[in-house]
Formats: sequence, structure tokens, C-alpha cells
Amino acid sequence: METINAESIDRDFIQAVEKESGQYISHCYQCGNCTAGCPLNFVYDIPVHQIMRLVQVGQKEKVLRSHAIWLCATCETCTTRCPCEVDVARVMDVLRIMARREGTVSEEGVQAFYDAFLDSVKSHGRLYELGVIMKYNLHTKRPFTDAELGPKLLGKGKIHFVPKNIKGARAVKEIFGRFAKKRGS
Ligand code: SF4
Ligand code: SF4
Repeated sequence: METINAESIDRDFIQAVEKESGQYISHCYQCGNCTAGCPLNFVYDIPVHQIMRLVQVGQKEKVLRSHAIWLCATCETCTTRCPCEVDVARVMDVLRIMARREGTVSEEGVQAFYDAFLDSVKSHGRLYELGVIMKYNLHTKRPFTDAELGPKLLGKGKIHFVPKNIKGARAVKEIFGRFAKKRGS
């Protein structure tokens, strides 16, 4: 990793990550166990142990603009392998939240998928597959992606034209409402 200039260290960022994730980032001693077990490391622009190091030295821009934080599958292998008991997956989660807040999302498609997924859960209390696929494809301007699979999935009953709400769909919607209120949106 390149040399870090002392003026580029954003201490507020370090504190914010620690506060929001509830993790002591300083406990990481760069053993590399998280990266060694990460199944998505082959597509990351910055390996996860280096993400941790960049957070330790307050490199907000580099971290929040990285592709790695969006390509992370939240599998928690890193968390399980960390000898310092740092919940690395939680830190990655918080970094995604921060990137959204700061408007520095590097993988628009991944964000579009998260949004389509959560909208579906908010509306139906569960995943409505066809709705998520349509929303995601429209948002990413590729309306016919995987369209050839549609008839096969419909025939096997894997997707449905009409969404089915769960019994507690209203309660789920209320949870989303409370969260939006708390966040002030
Ligand atoms: S949670 Fe993310 S960073 Fe950690 S091992 Fe899984 S994919 Fe890699
Ligand atoms: S496994 Fe834990 S201590 Fe090792 S580099 Fe990753 S976060 Fe740091």
C-alpha cells in the first residue's frame, strides 16, 4: 500500500465507522485472515484487509469509492476468521451505508438490486421475484436481461405474475416506516 500522508487522515471518519459498526477498528493487526477466506476477493479492487487498513488511517474517499464494499456478499467468513473478533462484515455493511449517504456508490447496479429487494419486502412482507427482476432491469436499463428464462421459471412455478403478501405485511411496512422516521427521510 502507498505511503499515507498525515494530512489525508480523516479522524472523524475513523470514529464514525467505529461508532456505527460498534467495532474497534484499531484491533486489526493486518494478519490477512479475512482476505485469505474471502470468496469474492478475486473481484475486489481492494482486498478486505486493506479496506480495514484504509479505515484505520482514515482514507475516507478511497474506502467509500471502492468497488469492494459493494461486491461483498456479506457471507461473514471474514468475521468468523478474524482472530481479533472484529466483525469485518458489519464494517463492510456500515461502509455501504456511508457510501450511500455520501453519494459515492461505485456499483450502481448493486445499489439498484438492494433497493428493488427492499421495496419488495416493504410492499409484500416478502420477496416478489418478478417485481424485483422487473424493477432491477428497468433501473439498470436492460429490460430484457434473462427474459428467456421467464417462461421456464413461470412453468415451474418459481415466479408468479401476481404478488402474494404475507400475513404480517402491514407490520413489516410499519417497521420500514419507523426506520424512515428515525432516519428523518
Ligand atoms: S463478508 Fe464480504 S468481505 Fe467478508 S468474506 Fe464475505 S464477501 Fe468477503
Ligand atoms: S482478520 Fe481481523 S485482524 Fe486480520 S486483517 Fe482481517 S480484520 Fe484485521
